[in-house]
Amino acid sequence: MNTFMTEPIGQLKIKMKELGADDAGIVSIDSPLIADQREDILKIYPQTKALISFVIALNIHAIQTRNKPIMNYEAKNGLDRLHEASFKISRYFNDNGAAALSAAPAFPMDMTKWAGKIWDISHKPIAVAAGLGTIGINRCVLHPKYGTFILLGTILINTEFKDYDKPLEKEVCIHCYLCVKNCPARALSKEGIDFLGCLNNSYRYFMPGFIDLVKDMAESKTVKKFEKKWPDDEILQMWQSLTYEGYYNCGYCISVCPAHLGKNYNKLEYEKEFDLPIKHDQEKTYIIGKNNKKELPQRILPLTCKQAIEFAFLFFKRENAKGIDAVIQYNITGKETGNWHAIIKGQTCIVKNGVAKNPTLTIDAPSHIWLKISRKEKNAILAYIFRQFKAKGDKKLLRRLTSIF
Ligand code: SF4
Ligand code: SF4
Repeated sequence: MNTFMTEPIGQLKIKMKELGADDAGIVSIDSPLIADQREDILKIYPQTKALISFVIALNIHAIQTRNKPIMNYEAKNGLDRLHEASFKISRYFNDNGAAALSAAPAFPMDMTKWAGKIWDISHKPIAVAAGLGTIGINRCVLHPKYGTFILLGTILINTEFKDYDKPLEKEVCIHCYLCVKNCPARALSKEGIDFLGCLNNSYRYFMPGFIDLVKDMAESKTVKKFEKKWPDDEILQMWQSLTYEGYYNCGYCISVCPAHLGKNYNKLEYEKEFDLPIKHDQEKTYIIGKNNKKELPQRILPLTCKQAIEFAFLFFKRENAKGIDAVIQYNITGKETGNWHAIIKGQTCIVKNGVAKNPTLTIDAPSHIWLKISRKEKNAILAYIFRQFKAKGDKKLLRRLTSIF
């Protein structure tokens, strides 16, 4: 019998801390709380029997400065500590007769799957199942001691344990909504997050901006035209990001979060101390659409029809979905045959495989047509009029569809 099957979980967690984690929890691969992750985890490592989730605490004060270089420096330091702890924890298990490996905590990801699921493992639900925190309104895992100022790691291991951790019973988020009020891209709401909105602003100097840079360079007929879109300071921000492991343009939903203070939080004093709400007037915010400070072309587009539907949550424009309570059934034929349904409620969107009962709108479309519509290369209404696809049910919703996704 493997020693880890008999070792008390408390002892193991002490060991994880000695190896560099600030907190750790253990979850069985059979936990119903991570049932939706199971297939992805086993695809990476079929021998997985358990997962060790662990956190690295960041220096709260460095993130709370809201000074972007300092925040990025701290994030990089945190990642370095995360890599080191991952290595040491995996090695500890490997030296003691188990097989353990670390899932990449962030980058590198599989960019061949862009703009779909480029990440292998979702660390957040595993951390929640391991009792390390609960999900806050800012969509981060909030740890009871370190709040939102953490990074997450996951180790996949081929052994079972004597017992496992349980999720926290009490929510850590104190519902102050400071994250919502201080998001410059208006990407957060009480109901959820506009992923694309956040991605385009916070990750400007990662994938979205790099795609823009290369395409703008290729499309610009003169240097002057290119310089209008890409002044030197933005080219240099991109250069810095490429040479320095990525430079986040935002993170205010983390820096303003008082979840670690729990019931000791005093709203007035806290807002005064951190000069809230943040005045974003002087900084560059990158938002797609009209009436914004810096209007961007929509360049994050699905490459396949399956991506367009399965990752609808990524393309979902929360602000345009006010008042919609509907189920959209997609019956796709042709090269990418399949059935999916999107449940839109409270400005959130969840996509499930299969056929829904009594959908509000049913779309029967060949995959190549629906991909073009999703990529805005074809007008949905004209395609419907010219019978390139069929729609049954709420036609008003059909008209709104291209503004929602
Ligand atoms: S990282 Fe910035 S843009 Fe993204 S949700 Fe947080 S505050 Fe908003
Ligand atoms: S800022 Fe407030 S509402 Fe937002 S995640 Fe933190 S505690 Fe929750």
